[in-house]
Amino acid sequence: MSTLIYWFRNDLRLTDNPAFTLASQQALQHGLRLLPVFCHAPPETTRWGFARVGLHRQRVLADTLLDLETQLRSLGSAPLHLHGQPANVLPALARVLQASTVMAEDIAAPQEQGEVAGLRAAGLTVQTVWQSSLLDPAELPFEVTALPAVFTQFRTGVEKAAVQVRQPLPAPSTVAPLPAMWDADSDRISHPDLAQLLTSNWPLAPTNKGQEAMNIDALDRVSLPYHLPAFQGGERTGLAHLRRYLAAKLPHSYKATRNQLSGTDYSSKFSPWLASGALSAPTIYAELKAFEVEFGANDGSYWLWFELLWRDYFRFLHLQTNDTLTLWRQGQTGVPLVDAAMRELHQTGYLSNRLRQVVASHLIYDLGCDWRAGAAWFESQLVDFDIYSNQGNWLYIAGLGTDPRGGRRFDVAKQTRDHDPDGSYQRLWLQG
Ligand SMILES: Cc1cc2nc3c(=O)[nH]c(=O)nc-3n(C[C@H](O)[C@H](O)[C@H](O)COP(=O)(O)OP(=O)(O)OC[C@H]3O[C@@H](n4cnc5c(N)ncnc54)[C@H](O)[C@@H]3O)c2cc1C
Repeated sequence: MSTLIYWFRNDLRLTDNPAFTLASQQALQHGLRLLPVFCHAPPETTRWGFARVGLHRQRVLADTLLDLETQLRSLGSAPLHLHGQPANVLPALARVLQASTVMAEDIAAPQEQGEVAGLRAAGLTVQTVWQSSLLDPAELPFEVTALPAVFTQFRTGVEKAAVQVRQPLPAPSTVAPLPAMWDADSDRISHPDLAQLLTSNWPLAPTNKGQEAMNIDALDRVSLPYHLPAFQGGERTGLAHLRRYLAAKLPHSYKATRNQLSGTDYSSKFSPWLASGALSAPTIYAELKAFEVEFGANDGSYWLWFELLWRDYFRFLHLQTNDTLTLWRQGQTGVPLVDAAMRELHQTGYLSNRLRQVVASHLIYDLGCDWRAGAAWFESQLVDFDIYSNQGNWLYIAGLGTDPRGGRRFDVAKQTRDHDPDGSYQRLWLQG
C-alpha cells in the first residue's frame, strides 16, 4: 500500500490545519498510509557569525514538537523526525517508502519556496496548501499582485469589502495509518538508507529547559516565560493560553496597554504559537469574536484584529513579491522596455549598463520588490557577474549605498524616449 508523506513545517498543530486534514482525508479515501514528517535543520551559523536558531527558539520548537507528537500518538500516528535539509532527506525517505507525493503547507518566503522547488526537482509531486494567514488571499478585494502599497489602504479595503474569515477546522478525529514499514520496536522506520537521516537526539534531553537558555537570575522579569508550563510551546498550551487571555477579559484593555514594555498581560503573547503554527489565526479570530459576543467589543478587541491584519499584510507582501518577481524575471511586466531587457538578460546573460539601471529601478521603485531578489537574479544570469559590482550597483540604485542622493529612480517612459525613441531595441527582444 502506497504512502503519502505529510511534511510539517510552520503548522505544528492538528486543530485548524487544513493541509494536514486534507492529507489524512485523501490517504483514508484512497487507502493510502500517511507518514507525518518533521525535518530538523542542521545547526547553521549565519553569515553574521551567530547561530541561525538560538537556544530560545530551539526550546520553544522542541516543546511544540513534543506536543504535536503526543497528539499524533493519541490518534495512532507519530511523526518521523529527520535530520537534514528537506530537499535531501525527503527524497531519500520517499525512495525507501516508494512514495511519490508530499503534502505540506505553502510558505511564500524564498528559502522555503526553494525547498519545495528542490523536492520537485528530485521528482516528487508536492502539493502545498496556503493556510498561515487569517484571510484567504483569494477572498481579498484585490489581486495579490495589486496589493495596496500602504497598510491602511489594505486594511480599509478589507474592512469595506467585509472579507470573511473562514471557520477553523476541528482537529481530525482519525488519522490515516502509518506505513507498514513503521517499526514498533524502534518506534520509527528502520532502514539502512535512512540510518544517517534519522534524528538521533530527539526528543531533546529533559534537562535542556528554558531556564538555561534565558541566562538570567530572576525569571520573574520575563515577559514571555516560555519555560513555565502555561507559556511553553505547543498547540494545547497555546489554546489554553488563548482561553485564559480571553477569560481574563484582557482584549478590552489591549489597546491601552499594548505599548507597555514588560509583563505577561500587556499584550496577547500569541506570537510564538502563531509563528510555529501551534495556533492558527482563524482559531484566534473565532475565539475573539465569541468573546466579543459574550462580553462586548471595544477598541481593544478591535485592535487585536488590526494587528492580525498587519501579520497578514506582511504575508501577502511576500506572495505579491513572488508573483511580481516572476513576471519581472520572465519579461512579462507589461512595460515594453523592461520586458525587452529582461528577455535579453534571460536569453543571453548580458545587458547594457543603462538597461541594468532601468530594470533594477523598475523592480525596486515601480514594482516594490526587494532589491536583494533582483541582485540574486542578476547573479544567476550575468556572464560578467562580479559580487562587488553587482552588489554595489543594486545598493546604489536602492539608496542604501554610498550615494548622497539616497536612491536612483529611473523614469521608464523617459528612458524609453531618450534611449530607444524608434523602438528598435524593444522590437529586437519583444518579437519572436
Ligand atoms: C523589527 C521588528 C521585528 C519583528 N519581528 C517579528 C517576528 O519575527 N515575529 C512576530 O510574530 N512578530 C514580529 N514583530 C511584530 C511584533 O513585535 C510582535 O508580533 C509582538 O510584539 C508579539 O507579541 P504579542 O503576541 O504579545 O503581540 P500583540 O501585540 O498581542 O499582537 C497580537 C498578534 O498580532 C500580530 N502582530 C502584532 N504586531 C505585529 C506587527 N507589527 N507585525 C506583524 N504582526 C504583528 C502578532 O501575530 C501578534 O501575536 C516584529 C516587529 C518589529 C518592529
